[in-house]
Amino acid sequence: MPYTTPEGTNDLLASQARLWQKAQFVAKQVFETYGYELIETPKFEITEVFSRGIGEATDVVGKEMFVVRSGANYQKACEQGSDEALKLKQKLSLRPEGTAGVVRAAIQHNLVPQGAAPAKLYYMGPMFRSERPQRGRLREFHQIGAECLGSTEATADVEMILMLLRFYEEMGIKRENLRVLVNSMGDDACRPAYRERVRDFLLQHSDDLCDDCNRRADTNPLRAFDCKNPGCKHVMSEAPKITDYLCEACAHHHREVIDLLANAHVDVVEDFSLVRGLDYYTRTVFEIQSTEIEAANSALGGGGRYDNLSESLGGKPMTGLGFALGFERVAIALEDSGVELPLADNLDVYVACATRDVAHQAFSLLQDVRNAGLSAEMDHQGKSLKSQFKIADKLQSRFAIIVGPDELAQGNVTIRN
Ligand code: AMP
Repeated sequence: MPYTTPEGTNDLLASQARLWQKAQFVAKQVFETYGYELIETPKFEITEVFSRGIGEATDVVGKEMFVVRSGANYQKACEQGSDEALKLKQKLSLRPEGTAGVVRAAIQHNLVPQGAAPAKLYYMGPMFRSERPQRGRLREFHQIGAECLGSTEATADVEMILMLLRFYEEMGIKRENLRVLVNSMGDDACRPAYRERVRDFLLQHSDDLCDDCNRRADTNPLRAFDCKNPGCKHVMSEAPKITDYLCEACAHHHREVIDLLANAHVDVVEDFSLVRGLDYYTRTVFEIQSTEIEAANSALGGGGRYDNLSESLGGKPMTGLGFALGFERVAIALEDSGVELPLADNLDVYVACATRDVAHQAFSLLQDVRNAGLSAEMDHQGKSLKSQFKIADKLQSRFAIIVGPDELAQGNVTIRN
């Protein structure tokens, strides 16, 4: 049987590939007007970057990461029955998200020296999570993300949200089809007490919660807000609200974010159940949803503030915030709202050979046309002139140059539109 793509992965072909190119182009244009610069980090990192950064008890780290081993290290682990003998730097994982790697890079290269302006970085590329594949939920998917490292003020949080909205709009998604959800996760001063309240609440309702949520009471109570189980969702709608537990500093930051968004004319849904799947968030978290795609996969992107992440990764204190948007979700939102996908550019010139014996002269003319900056093509299959015209038509070529022996002898070619 011929091989196919692994489960949950896609080949990006034709219009999808062009859309991915467009998304990268739009991101570059929009983000650079906001002062962001491209960063490329490796597609895999030392696993601990993710487990310490994102959190051991998250689904992303606990269940969904693709572990990477060199052949030799894999064999060693098999022989010994465990990974224990491997060194830290030999235990690698494909990146499930981009933030931990970017913050690792910022620490490694001291991108935010004391007293410097924030480092504003964006990235684009594949991420890997072993999730149950479905429409808009893949095992290899593409994210575009941005991080603003060293920023503390609510204006930075709001700038992120506005930049993300601008990206969607430039891609062709209408503002009225986007929903902006915002919440605060508090910080070290106020979240621990809130976590305890949620844990108590989970224990009180254990009979009505799924096994995962009962486990979460011990490991990570706030994750219960993310549970997709309808029974759990119902129970959690009555859970204590973080906004009732925020310390004065976090409450002030949250109010500023809401006010700044209102000043920028962004309608916001304040959603206290928005906790997002990663442990590193503090204070602002946000998510942009499409009102046009099914609820389970309606999140087009999201992010938040992670003021403790640098320290979790062994760096000095460095505040920051960021977002990631899912390219495949954007593609679905565009498809479902009937927005035309980008078409291939038409060809400028098709160089046709009247007879095979002029192919070499035609080939050299083809190079001249391309060197002049026009897109050009010729036949490489020995086709008849009639077939070459058909192909030129199919490629929607604006001009055909016909190279024939008689014209060549006079130093001429025929040009047709
Ligand atoms: P996260 O990194 O979990 O905050 O996700 C940010 C965005 O990436 C989401 O809002 C989705 O648009 C997208 N995303 C996350 N996981 C997947 C996945 N498995 N497949 C496709 N897109 C995803």
